[in-house]
Formats: sequence, C-alpha cells, structure tokens
Amino acid sequence: MYDVKGNLKQVLADLPAGVRLVAISKYHPNEYIEAAYEEGHRIFGESHEQELRQKVETLPKDIQWHFIGHLQTNKVKYIAPYITMIEAVDSLKLLKEIDKQAAKNERVIDVLLELHIAEEETKYGLTPDACRQLLADGEWRELKHVRICGLMMMASYVDDESQIRSEFRVAKHLFDELKAQYFADKDYFCERSWGMSHDYPIAVEEGSTMVRVGTSIFGPRVY
Ligand SMILES: *Cc1c(COP(=O)(O)O)cnc(C)c1O
Repeated sequence: MYDVKGNLKQVLADLPAGVRLVAISKYHPNEYIEAAYEEGHRIFGESHEQELRQKVETLPKDIQWHFIGHLQTNKVKYIAPYITMIEAVDSLKLLKEIDKQAAKNERVIDVLLELHIAEEETKYGLTPDACRQLLADGEWRELKHVRICGLMMMASYVDDESQIRSEFRVAKHLFDELKAQYFADKDYFCERSWGMSHDYPIAVEEGSTMVRVGTSIFGPRVY
C-alpha cells in the first residue's frame, strides 16, 4: 500500500504552527483515510457529495469533513447535518441555502468564500470584486446559521512560482481588506485556505492558515 503514514508525517513536518492540514481524500479508498486517521489526523476534505456520504457512513464519527468542491444548492441538505466546513461558497444563493439547511439542523455551519484569481477559465469562484460586492450587499448579515470564516482559493496550475506567489498575495490582501472592513471584531474570520500538493510550501510563505493536500499524501488519484 501507498505509504500514507510516512507521507502525512512529511507534509505535517513542512507546516509551521498555526497552519492546519486538510487531507484531501477524494477518489481515495477508506483504507488510506484510516491510515491517516491512525496517525491521529482528523481533518479530511472531499469534493463529491455521494462519495462523501459513503465515507461518512463507514468511517469514524470524529472525523471533521470539509467540503472543498463545487456544491450544488440541491446537495446542501445532504451534508448540512454533519459537515464541519464548506470551503467553496461562491454565491449568495448557495450561502442562503446553507443557512436554511443549517437552521433545519439547528446548527451553525462554518464556510469560506471561494475566490477566483487564477488565470484559468472556470465557472467557479468569486472574482475579488464579486466577493466585495457580496459582502457590501449586506444580506449575509441576516444569515444566522452560517459563519463566514475566511477565504479559499486555488492558484493557477503553472510552474511559474512567481505567478503562484502573486496570486496568493492578491488573496491575502483581499483577506486583510475584508477583515478590516467587515470582520475586525470577529475572531472566527481567520482562515486563508490556499496551498495544494504542488504549491503548499509557497502558500505557507504567503499567509495560508489551511492547506488542502491530497496527492502528496495519498498518491495519484484513480478516477
Ligand atoms: C483535489 C483538490 C485539492 C488537492 O489537490 P492535490 O493536488 O491532490 O493536493 C485541493 N483543493 C481542491 C479544491 C481540490 O479540488
């Protein structure tokens, strides 16, 4: 079997205090998750609701699951009872649906706003201006069952380190701006989720508080 435990230790050794690891286990079998769990790891990330549902049913109940993928509004109800954090919120509509389903479950769900800064074309994520607009609108303030805990983003998938670094910097600047403008007195607005297998060392240098690492721990995904 792939040396999940050894890899996990190596990644953790790279992370300074204050940076948490979300082990991205999508497309990986339960045995791999259990291996990391045996090492004491508890935070895992998945991006597909059905796959997550199957894993939640069979794996230990004290795992903290982060939903990291694009989440359709009609799927929110399935994860609302147990999800620890929804990392990729990119519309007010989705935020409102999470609030509604969290209320039904008598919970407050932690979320991150997903930024789109990378040059790659994608339908997902808020541009910095769209993110500012969402918060300026103010409707989110009425949503008592979601807590906006920070920002999440993916840098461009390129070899050019300076480009990756500058994208992380844009995200960090926006975080600081929003923190000052809307969340200065909210200690929970503190998360900057950036850094994946190929760029997490740079992300950590550029202010990440939460890296999302899959391949470096579990190996290549088998789709
Ligand atoms: C799959 C995925 C990751 C992990 O990517 P690796 O390159 O395997 O580390 C991180 N973030 C998101 C949003 C993902 O979809």
